[in-house]
Amino acid sequence: MTEPVRFELLKRDSKTMARRGRLKTLHGTIETPVFMPVGTQASVKTMAPDELVEIGAGIILANTYHLHVRPGEDLVHEAGGLHGFMNWNHAVLTDSGGFQVFSLADLRKITDDGVRFRSHLDGSPMFFSPESVMQIENKLGADIIMAFDECPPYPAEREYLEVSVRRTLEWAKRCQKAHARPEEQALFGIVQGGEHRDLRQEAAKALVELDLPGYAVGGLSVGEPKPLMYEVLEYTTPWLPANKPRYLMGVGSPDDLFEGVERGIDMFDCVLPTRIARNGTVMTSRGKLVVRNAQYAKDFRPLDEACDCKVCKTHSRAYIRHLIKADEILGIRLTTYHNLYFLLKIMEGIRTAIEQDRFLQYKREFYSQYGYNDLTKGEDV
Ligand SMILES: [Zn+2]
Repeated sequence: MTEPVRFELLKRDSKTMARRGRLKTLHGTIETPVFMPVGTQASVKTMAPDELVEIGAGIILANTYHLHVRPGEDLVHEAGGLHGFMNWNHAVLTDSGGFQVFSLADLRKITDDGVRFRSHLDGSPMFFSPESVMQIENKLGADIIMAFDECPPYPAEREYLEVSVRRTLEWAKRCQKAHARPEEQALFGIVQGGEHRDLRQEAAKALVELDLPGYAVGGLSVGEPKPLMYEVLEYTTPWLPANKPRYLMGVGSPDDLFEGVERGIDMFDCVLPTRIARNGTVMTSRGKLVVRNAQYAKDFRPLDEACDCKVCKTHSRAYIRHLIKADEILGIRLTTYHNLYFLLKIMEGIRTAIEQDRFLQYKREFYSQYGYNDLTKGEDV
C-alpha cells in the first residue's frame, strides 16, 4: 500500500522539544515546522494561488463545513477535487467541520451518531456523522483530512469533557473505517480533553493505537489563557509518536508559533494574519502596526522596513492606509500578502534556527525585537 504522506524527522533541538522535519505529500514536500494559510472557501482571502506560491506556501487549509454548504462536495469532486477546482498543485488539508458545526451552526443536537444542525446560510437541516464527513472529505480530495471531532467550548465541565473525549475517540475509529481513499489522503486524529491532563493522555494513547498518519491537538485557542494552552501542549505532545507529524489547530500569532514549536508542534493554521489584515493591521519585525491609524497618513516607509516582500519593496504605509480608508480592495490585498509572508518567514527562521541548534536564541531575539515582554504571556498579535 502506498502512503499518502511520509514524515521524516531531520533534527531535534537539544534544549527544547522543537523539531525540524519534512512532510512528503502527493502534492509536494513541506518543510516543518510549517504555517498553513487558511482558505476557508477554497480561497485564501484576497490571495490568488500564484501569489501563495510566490510567498512559499506549500500547504493551505480549506474548510469542510463551508465547502459542503457551498458549492457542495459533488461539484468540487467533479472539478477534480480541491486541487483541480482551485488549480492549486500543492498540498491541501481539510478540517473536519467539527469546529464550525459547534461554533457557527444553529440548533445543534449532539448524539453518539453525529450532530444535527441547521446551515448558517439558509437554515436548511443537516447532519454530520463520522461517515458523512469522511464522504465529504474524500470528495474534496485534500492530501490531509481531519477526523470528525466534537469541539467543546472553554470552559466546559469535566463530566461533559469526559463524554466528549470518548465520543471523539469512537468517531475517530468510525472515520478510519469509513475513509475510502487511505492511499491518497492521510487521516489525522484529533486529541481533545480540555485542560485535563488525564483526559488528554487517554485521548492521545487511544488515538495512537489507531496508528494514524498524523495527530492534531484540538480544543485549544478557544478562549483559555495562553499559559494554560502551553501547559496542555507540554503534557500532550510527549504522548504522540515522534515519527508522525503533530498539528496544533487554529493557532497562529507569532508567540504561539514559537511556543508551539518549542513544545514539539510541526504544523499550524490560523485565520489571524488574513483576518487582521482586513482590518488594516499588520505584523512587523517591530511588532503590530495598525496602518489605518492617522499617524501613518504621511509615513512613506514600507509596512516593515526589515521585510523583503513584494509589498514592502513597492508600497508605503501612507499609500496602503489611503487604500484601506478608501475601501479600495488593493489595500487589504497588500496587507494580507505582507502578513502571510511575514509568518512564513518566521517559520523559515525557526526551521533554520532548529537546524543550527539555536532555537531559543532565535526566539529571544525575535521576542525582544517584536516587543513581547513576558515570554509566556504574549499578546494576541
Ligand atoms: Zn512585507
